[in-house]
Amino acid sequence: MKDFILWFEDQVKKTIEEYALVSRDDKILVACSGGKDSMTVLYLLKKFGYRVEGLIIDLLIGEWSQANLDNAQRFCDEQGIKLHVVSVRDVLGGSMCYIRSKIGAEKKLTTCAVCGVIKRWLLNKKSRELGADKVATGHNLDDQVETLMMNLLKNNIKLNAGQQPVTGVVKDDKFVPRIKPLFFCLNKEVRKYSELKKFPVLYDNCPCASGVFRKEIREELTNLEEKFPDFKENMVRNFLKILSGVKNEGGAIAYCEKCDEVSRKKLCKFCDLMSVLEREKFK
Ligand code: AMP
Ligand code: ZN
Repeated sequence: MKDFILWFEDQVKKTIEEYALVSRDDKILVACSGGKDSMTVLYLLKKFGYRVEGLIIDLLIGEWSQANLDNAQRFCDEQGIKLHVVSVRDVLGGSMCYIRSKIGAEKKLTTCAVCGVIKRWLLNKKSRELGADKVATGHNLDDQVETLMMNLLKNNIKLNAGQQPVTGVVKDDKFVPRIKPLFFCLNKEVRKYSELKKFPVLYDNCPCASGVFRKEIREELTNLEEKFPDFKENMVRNFLKILSGVKNEGGAIAYCEKCDEVSRKKLCKFCDLMSVLEREKFK
């Protein structure tokens, strides 16, 4: 047990060092969902001596969001970490369930895709306002392999350009770089670590999670990992070698004409989705 804990912590430390994810004077905002991955990132960055604060977006998805919020708050209080809370209602005027149901159908997007765009936009804006140098997320090796494979199968390899331990595609003062310290940690390893450490977290998925495609890819990849140990790690390491030659899609960096955030198009993805809600209002 002790060996595993030391080994796991060493893996995360190696990723941080190998990819120079943070420097000692960086202020790091950890994007906390209240789940095992982001709690592990928060705990370890603090343990390694970095300047960390947490940021949780309250998605207002009933008891599930409330439990995550309570867990994150309790954990941060215990660890002496400042936690910032942003409610989607303050920013978007409704709960995430309401927002996603309105937008998803019209844009033909899964609820997870809508949620992802909204969370990324909010995380970047809030962490910049809070003076963060980096935003850390809890994405793990399983998340990464699934995303790489999904983009590949959708004939969209250019979207993979951003799938690195540090998102380095966009360089702009308005964009806070995102780092993924658990990039090389398997989901089952993070879970084991979190359980051994007795972190106060839920291990259930979001009750609104949708997307059959990702689920099927996950199952297939996990079958392959069982047959071929290190399959997932080898896959992301090979991708990383070729990604340096892949340029992301779209034109030069510009700013959204509505919200003034970084965007490659006139309207950023977030404002494009929000335009559905605006139209609803005037119906
Ligand atoms: P997900 O998009 O749910 O797969 O989560 C990926 C990462 O995004 C998590 O590991 C967190 O770092 C971050 N994240 C997810 N949900 C939230 C939330 N409600 N508030 C802040 N960060 C979040
Ligand atoms: Zn915008």
